[in-house]
Amino acid sequence: MDYIVYERDESETSNRSGGSLDLHPETGQYALRQAGLFDDFQKYASGEGRDAPEIDRLELRKILLASIPKDKIKWGHALTGAKLGADGKPVLQFANGVVVSGFKLAVGTDGAWSKLRALITPAKPIYVGRSYIESRIQPDNPLYETTVKNMGRGSNVSIGSKQLVISQKQGDGSYRFYFGFDVSENAFQDGSIDLHDIEATRRLLLSTEHFGDWGEQYKEFIRHATDFRSWPLYSLPKEAMNWKSVPGVTLAGDAAHLAVPNGEGVNLAMTDSLELAKKVIEYGTEDLDRAVREYETAMFPRGVDCINEGTMMAEVMFSEDHRAFLQLLNSLISADKGDNS
Ligand SMILES: Cc1cc2nc3c(=O)[nH]c(=O)nc-3n(C[C@H](O)[C@H](O)[C@H](O)COP(=O)(O)OP(=O)(O)OC[C@H]3O[C@@H](n4cnc5c(N)ncnc54)[C@H](O)[C@@H]3O)c2cc1C
Repeated sequence: MDYIVYERDESETSNRSGGSLDLHPETGQYALRQAGLFDDFQKYASGEGRDAPEIDRLELRKILLASIPKDKIKWGHALTGAKLGADGKPVLQFANGVVVSGFKLAVGTDGAWSKLRALITPAKPIYVGRSYIESRIQPDNPLYETTVKNMGRGSNVSIGSKQLVISQKQGDGSYRFYFGFDVSENAFQDGSIDLHDIEATRRLLLSTEHFGDWGEQYKEFIRHATDFRSWPLYSLPKEAMNWKSVPGVTLAGDAAHLAVPNGEGVNLAMTDSLELAKKVIEYGTEDLDRAVREYETAMFPRGVDCINEGTMMAEVMFSEDHRAFLQLLNSLISADKGDNS
């Protein structure tokens, strides 16, 4: 069975979007085990003894890339559109002018703004009214030692009134911060917030409207933070999770069921890929339509759960009332201990 991966990034090293990810035993870790990559994962994962060890996103990508032959990946191929050809099979158009066809199945794993999705469903991501500004404290930052002392290893979440700060220690030792707040959808495009202007971004985050009345420790992070980047939060509507199967095309991961970040996204993307692969192996290339139908039928409820969970997490984490967040934390701790009392 032959395949080709078309990827927008120019090369293996051109994507800087890291961030650590919890991989869960029944989903992300299970997929890695099935792919024979669990030992590699353990070399990079941190959080020994925890059920959900964390791995840097770029390390995970390295492991996955190393598992397939280099000539199977076409770098620098940004999909711009897709249509069904006269034979009913997908025709893919790329920004570099390349047009390809002749595939029995095209799987859209092109994330939130999937270009393949339109062949299957008219559903589009909806902005949920909140965004993160991401930033970094690198080891050469004057605040680095203080950050190590205050934030330690792993991840931290601090909740304010409709605002939050998440910090994560990265595989390269740097710290990644996410400052979350309510903001209009176009603020990062219409010039209201210009993240290239570092001083203006720091002033905005330090204003009383945002984190100006937070503790000094947080304001110090903002004063020293660099490398700002926006993460507007979008979700697909859960009603989209029931499309009629289109022969020759399917979706997996965020392309299929984009949700507000809830700690499941990467895990589910890997589960989707594993489940689709199992179906393709079961029915072979002779009955791919059946493989896709059965994969999608099982994937829809996973997608709905993930979208619901993302919506709930956003409500809880960006709430004015912190009791809901504490309840959520307690329920997660109880579940972790297997305590159903
Ligand atoms: C701020 C933030 C924090 C998050 N934290 C977590 C977390 O802690 N745990 C977790 O599980 N999930 C987290 N998520 C969600 C997680 O990032 C996604 O659910 C997950 O990455 C989805 O994987 P994917 O492969 O479907 O899509 P993506 O990771 O988006 O990958 C899509 C791939 O397709 C490529 N691509 C995109 N468009 C095109 C195109 N037009 N043509 C060709 N290639 C294209 C991209 O370059 C990329 O390689 C977070 C999300 C955000 C925004």
